[in-house]
Amino acid sequence: MIPAIFSQALLRGVRGRCPRCEEGGLFRKWLKPRERCPACALDLTPQRADDFPAYVAMLVTGHLLAPLIIALSLDYALGPLAMMAILVPLALVMMLGMLQPAKGGIIATQWWFGMHGFVKERLPEDSAGS
Ligand SMILES: [Zn+2]
Repeated sequence: MIPAIFSQALLRGVRGRCPRCEEGGLFRKWLKPRERCPACALDLTPQRADDFPAYVAMLVTGHLLAPLIIALSLDYALGPLAMMAILVPLALVMMLGMLQPAKGGIIATQWWFGMHGFVKERLPEDSAGS
């Protein structure tokens, strides 16, 4: 039920699932998290993702688009209007598509590390090996 490693919790959050049980959905609407997991009743109100998902989406989009921008301008010698017609819609779709997974991953991270009033539920690291 409770994930054994951080990446498992993170992946659940990125997929929009509850980081603790994976059964319940994390979001009520697109970017509106539920107050409680419908499956395991994890209290999700301590989450403080704020605008960090937007920063993550911009950072990832920028790094993915940079090689494309360079390739388009060097290999195809497109004019500014053609570049904008390709890049602006692509950037919008990428950023909007990344917001919910980024927010889910951030909420899962906050839960895993017991931030902002989340209760740290995983076992201490040193008890795993002994
Ligand atoms: Zn749950």
